[in-house]
Amino acid sequence: MSQIVTRFPPSPTGFLHLGGARTAVFNWLYARHTGGRFVLRFEDTDTERSSPRYVAAILDALTWLGIDWDEGPYYQSQRLEVYRQHLQRLLEAGRAYYCTCSPERLEAMRREAMARGDKPKYDGTCRHLGLGPGPGAAVRFKAPLSGATVLRDVVKGTIAFDNAEFDDFVICRSEGTPTYNFAVVVDDITMGVNTIIRGDDHVMNTPKQIQLYEALGAPLPVFAHVPMVLGRDRARLSKRHGAASVTEYRDQGFLPDAVVNYLVRLGWSCGDQEFFTRAELIERFSLEHLGRSAGVFDPEKLLALNAEHLRAKPPAELIALLRPFFRELGIELEAGPRTEKIVAGLAPRSKTLADLARQARFYFQEDFAYEEEAARAHLKEEALPVLTAVAARLATLEDFQESALEEAFRAVMAETGLKLGKIAQPVRVALSGRAASPGIFEIIAILGKEATLRRLERAIGFIRRGGKAPPVTGAGDRKMRKGLDAEGCGG
Ligand code: GLU
Repeated sequence: MSQIVTRFPPSPTGFLHLGGARTAVFNWLYARHTGGRFVLRFEDTDTERSSPRYVAAILDALTWLGIDWDEGPYYQSQRLEVYRQHLQRLLEAGRAYYCTCSPERLEAMRREAMARGDKPKYDGTCRHLGLGPGPGAAVRFKAPLSGATVLRDVVKGTIAFDNAEFDDFVICRSEGTPTYNFAVVVDDITMGVNTIIRGDDHVMNTPKQIQLYEALGAPLPVFAHVPMVLGRDRARLSKRHGAASVTEYRDQGFLPDAVVNYLVRLGWSCGDQEFFTRAELIERFSLEHLGRSAGVFDPEKLLALNAEHLRAKPPAELIALLRPFFRELGIELEAGPRTEKIVAGLAPRSKTLADLARQARFYFQEDFAYEEEAARAHLKEEALPVLTAVAARLATLEDFQESALEEAFRAVMAETGLKLGKIAQPVRVALSGRAASPGIFEIIAILGKEATLRRLERAIGFIRRGGKAPPVTGAGDRKMRKGLDAEGCGG
């Protein structure tokens, strides 16, 4: 095969959900892996259900996922002339015919078949009537009546469909719009698509499409029908199991790389490896390793994978992604070595970008509330001499590098006879409000001298007032930047 051409043809009748996103990712990856082309096309002929709002939402979701397309977006609604031409070809070749059977007649036919326990099928009334176009006339495909249509699928293997199972299906409705099976085949032929990866809910459409390829004299594409994604209850994935739209994961602070990685692993494998960078996926993705059994969506696994991607991403790259989450907390995140240090310290302790931003808040905010339990355990009477000793020592210190800080703390240990833990915990709560945080020297180095001393004083005051919070100004979020000294970590 020459250049691989794949496509993603969503119907803009809803948001891009996880299953659809996975299909897009597979097709995109295969095009990128092979140096091929990836085509985006909106199947919007269902004018009642399609909406520009969903087109915009799908484009937004693909862009966020980092899926770029080489061609399109095409819109089926703008290609009616192309379908008309192909329809004409089939009519002229005697492979299609006009049908004027009324909806009532077709409905009666359907009911009778159901009553007999048969599959509803068109009885071929108009097949030999040689009718011409006219109001109320649909166009039907003259399907083969006997023999078999064979689907050779990369994932499913070979499936032979008995042609007697199919009827002369409608390819163009009486009002002139093409049906899905016809439009999709004309599009894929005219766009040069030669590899189709899609959900196996389309397997039953495929023999009809294969018959159309044959009637139009076009070579068949490679088909790969992947099993659907299921929820943990083994039901087909729906809103119940996860977000309705992939962009909800963006809003919750997931990384696009993690979502792409997770979606791929829901239907493709490379040994036992779970974590893949985007570059690795592009390098390794192949049709051979598409899974034969359905992937089960596990939100916790996605979260764990997201944490891994957070850890792996260079802090400088995370900053841009973090900005909206900080903005929500009232913090304008500035790029620079200090921010990078904050991010580097917290990324290994965070599950999402939102989580990281929340945890980093104390660096920017002076008037945070102490976590109740942390304050009860560590900001009590006996911590007073410790905090006072640390404050006194740091007040005389000029070098706020981590190594110098470590030395200063050793001096306080010698002075008070206390172990590092006994000293570090109250200091940690005083500086961050929490009992768990990045390393204490790291925090002090980032905060710098002034902010550190201010926070120690604040905690001392808190203990002296018997554990009562100092008055909160309420303007804390705006004042946050004051929490950082310029000399913090040389930034
Ligand atoms: N518009 C169809 C869908 O969203 C495309 C199916 C196909 O890939 O052929 O399911």
